[in-house]
Amino acid sequence: MITTENVHPHEISKFGSMAERWWDPAGEFKTLHDINPLRINFIERYTAIAGRRIVDVGCGGGILTEALAKQGADALGIDLSQDLIDVADLHSLETGVTVHYRNASAETQASEQPAAFDLVTCMEMLEHVPNPASVIQACATLVKPGGWVFFSTLNRQPKAYLLAIVAAEHLLRMLPKGTHDFNSFIKPSELSQFARDAGLELLGMAGIEYNPLSRRFNLGTDIDINYLAAFRRPPEAANSSAV
Ligand code: SAH
Repeated sequence: MITTENVHPHEISKFGSMAERWWDPAGEFKTLHDINPLRINFIERYTAIAGRRIVDVGCGGGILTEALAKQGADALGIDLSQDLIDVADLHSLETGVTVHYRNASAETQASEQPAAFDLVTCMEMLEHVPNPASVIQACATLVKPGGWVFFSTLNRQPKAYLLAIVAAEHLLRMLPKGTHDFNSFIKPSELSQFARDAGLELLGMAGIEYNPLSRRFNLGTDIDINYLAAFRRPPEAANSSAV
């Protein structure tokens, strides 16, 4: 594993140890499979995916990365778990979708490829790193001026503790125990501030809502638990030397 300062090694080994079950739609990562179409829908509210160059930061086994490639994007997924990069690569070979994967951190990729991507996605990852602001800054560096950055994470709210940890991990067993640490959850105001500090403009947010009766997820306005946010790097002034 490449080590960088901004990583919790136990997070990488935790996710890596479940690598082989990543693509089981009824397994530990069922929730990621279930919410994946909503993430694509959310992105498409703002911009087209087809033909775009996209980097998916903290891609895991590639659930979102592969879906973006299926929509016609030129997609690169990066993650610090080599086990997950291997699973992602293997899965794309099985499905025949062209996707690229690399074992790298957001910060390393940003230092090598600044302003190289039309879109950056970073989903369900910020709550697993020691310094989310650094990842957000790296995402802002990776995107071209005028391009889009999409994040999703969990809100540090009592409701998220009850539903994302107590209910999802312990009562309903939707997620493995220990998946999330409440203290690492990020409030929408904090995410917005980090993004603003990185020069990104907030365009909108949506909540991922769960209906326990139908057991279905939908995009809604409740951002108290799991939420998505869209940001844009402002386009460069067309002619900054104009008088
Ligand atoms: N984004 C994917 C996977 C989310 S799980 C999806 O939503 O489908 C969180 C992922 O973040 C894991 O794959 C884990 O290995 C990765 N991760 C955690 N810390 C990281 C870091 N510092 N740099 C890159 N990836 C990291």
